[in-house]
Amino acid sequence: MGQDITVTGMTVHKVRLAVRSERRQGTGAIKDAMTNVYLRLATDAGIVGWGEAASAAAFPGTTEADMAALHVHLRPLLIGADPFRIEALMAKAERTVVHVPQAKAAMEAALFDIVGKALRTPVCNLLGGRVRERIPLSFSIANPDLAADVEMAKRVWADGVRIFKVKTGFAGHGEDLKRLETLRRALPDAADLRVDYNQALACFDAIAKLRDVERFRPTFIEQPVALDRIDAMAEITRALDTPIMADESVFTPAQALAVASARAADAISIKTMKGGMMRARRVAAIAEAAGIPCYGGDMAESGLGHLAGVHAVAATPNISLGCEFYQATYYLKEDLLERPFPVEDGQVVVPTTPGLGIDVDEDKLARATVERLG
Ligand code: MG
Repeated sequence: MGQDITVTGMTVHKVRLAVRSERRQGTGAIKDAMTNVYLRLATDAGIVGWGEAASAAAFPGTTEADMAALHVHLRPLLIGADPFRIEALMAKAERTVVHVPQAKAAMEAALFDIVGKALRTPVCNLLGGRVRERIPLSFSIANPDLAADVEMAKRVWADGVRIFKVKTGFAGHGEDLKRLETLRRALPDAADLRVDYNQALACFDAIAKLRDVERFRPTFIEQPVALDRIDAMAEITRALDTPIMADESVFTPAQALAVASARAADAISIKTMKGGMMRARRVAAIAEAAGIPCYGGDMAESGLGHLAGVHAVAATPNISLGCEFYQATYYLKEDLLERPFPVEDGQVVVPTTPGLGIDVDEDKLARATVERLG
């Protein structure tokens, strides 16, 4: 290609991203801020690449682990590396530090950002090109103050958003039913309601509880039980009319194969935070072979993390159930991108500018940074 670029520097930022409201879900909660990791890679060509790791202590892993993975363990792989050799670098990262898929996703995004900018093309073009220009956006209902969330949902509906994912399982079954009823009443009939338990139910009475939830006509019910209970997920999938989605149960292609083989879900939530865009596409390919559609989930990311997800969804036909890249627009007090994350009429607009498509605003990053390494 005649591209001769070397990674020459990296900084790792722990950023505090203030949020507009508390949120709870089956596993984990956000009180007044998310604490994520931003990675900045510099090159000898003057090109800068960006990536984000969305960390959470309760799930999937701590900010401190992501900081250390990048700063201590992955730095030696990256400094001096050819950013075009993404597959080789990701394989090395896998052998260098166990787990921390979000840190590896940040590394992969920053490398793709560099390559896209070097070739003056958006990242989705490096993944096969766009199969969709716009992606329907889902907004998550997770505020323990339901009245506030109903108001927010109405506002978001007025913007054109038609998909709402209700987080359940944090306040008891009766409360879940009450919240679903309130939302069904408050929103027009055409609202596409989805339910996400984030592993909160016990296997013992999950089917009985989910049968109650089915009367609110959810499009799917996500991860009702613990991530490793593939047997129970399969049983629930067989028992219910409503499609069941696996999220926490599927991080890796091998887990996707296990879920597909056991018919333990009707759909899979893909997240770039589970190890990057290329891994997301491997999971989507396995799911496609099993006739299982996928959804563009996210892991409490800001706009930078969303962008990697957008390119992965844009280029992958089987990620067909919309996306939940809503935090930058509707949840953070301030996002850190130079331009607003692109949402129009309730849909994410796939960027056509080089790399991830929008750079980080370094002044905003400096203000949000609580710790910087490198
Ligand atoms: Mg989920």
